[in-house]
Amino acid sequence: MVTFKQPRKRARSRKLRKIYVKLPGNKVTLHYRKRKPSHVKCANCKKPLKGTLRELPSVMKNLPKTYKKPSRPYGGYLCSNCTRELIKAKFRR
Ligand SMILES: [Zn+2]
Repeated sequence: MVTFKQPRKRARSRKLRKIYVKLPGNKVTLHYRKRKPSHVKCANCKKPLKGTLRELPSVMKNLPKTYKKPSRPYGGYLCSNCTRELIKAKFRR
C-alpha cells in the first residue's frame, strides 16, 4: 500500500497534475507538474489543429519552428479544410 502525507497547500487543488514517480528501493512518491495548455483550435470551425504541439512554453521555445505549426498559409491558425475554402473564396472574388 502507498501512503502519502498531506500535500503542500499549493498542490491541494487540481491546478497541478499528479505524477507518480518510482524511486530506487521500490518507493513511489507523488510529484506535481504544471498542466499542459489546451489544444490549438481552428479559428473558423473550432476543431483541434493537426500538426501543432501541446506543450508548455518552456518546452516550445527550445523546439524548431517547423515542429510547432504547418508551414503553409494560415498554418497554426486555420485547419486545412477552412484554408482551402478561404483561398477558393478569395480567388473567386
Ligand atoms: Zn477549420
